[in-house]
Amino acid sequence: MLSYSMPCYPHILRLAALAVTVSSVCLGEVHADDLLATCDAADFTVEAETGPEAQAVCRVVLAALPQLQNCHLSVRNPVSITVSDDLADASARCLGYYQCDQSEIHIRSAQGMARAFDPEGVFGQVELDVFFESIVVHELAHALFQQNACVTGACSENHEYVAHAMQMAWLPDDQRALIIDAYPVETPIDPMLLNTFIATMAPERYAALVWQHFNQPENGCAFIQRLLVGDVSLQLQLYPE
Ligand SMILES: [Zn+2]
Repeated sequence: MLSYSMPCYPHILRLAALAVTVSSVCLGEVHADDLLATCDAADFTVEAETGPEAQAVCRVVLAALPQLQNCHLSVRNPVSITVSDDLADASARCLGYYQCDQSEIHIRSAQGMARAFDPEGVFGQVELDVFFESIVVHELAHALFQQNACVTGACSENHEYVAHAMQMAWLPDDQRALIIDAYPVETPIDPMLLNTFIATMAPERYAALVWQHFNQPENGCAFIQRLLVGDVSLQLQLYPE
């Protein structure tokens, strides 16, 4: 089973989140079915325990798709999103993950995230509802990168770079600055630092590094395009041929 997620690294995020508020167009009808509610947004189906929760995630999906598509991350296949208090088969600190072989995103609910949250961390300074949205965008980016990347491009380093870049891009400037200001770096950033080891051990620093690399004029969505087609790769070549 392949899965990608920033929040699923062992030492990673301890966050909280609330319902989200984002403008939207033509949200799908919400269906109550026992304890589950679903909502459709474009090619995404969201399942949550309450209708408002499902609708909120659908709104994020619809609002985030233009940003993702502008970075060459088109929707090619349907994706299902499940929001739940507890994530089966995930660590207690995991907030969400993308299961690429089944095209499924699993995200911990706001209440569930609150239990996994470390308010002492830099991420904890970001507004909780905004951060929840950014986690949704992070996992959307994983799903769409997987759908669009060449086979060799879809390694974990490239995946995490794209997911973090899209997550950070989603944040309002003032919220993103809370993270960036905590981890100032000097450019140019060594691409070797953009690896999953740092993402695992120092996720907030990694997020800051990714954004500052992505934000360089020569990088941005053009760099994501190069990752997609395999012109560049962040994969660590420990044993190059
Ligand atoms: Zn991730």
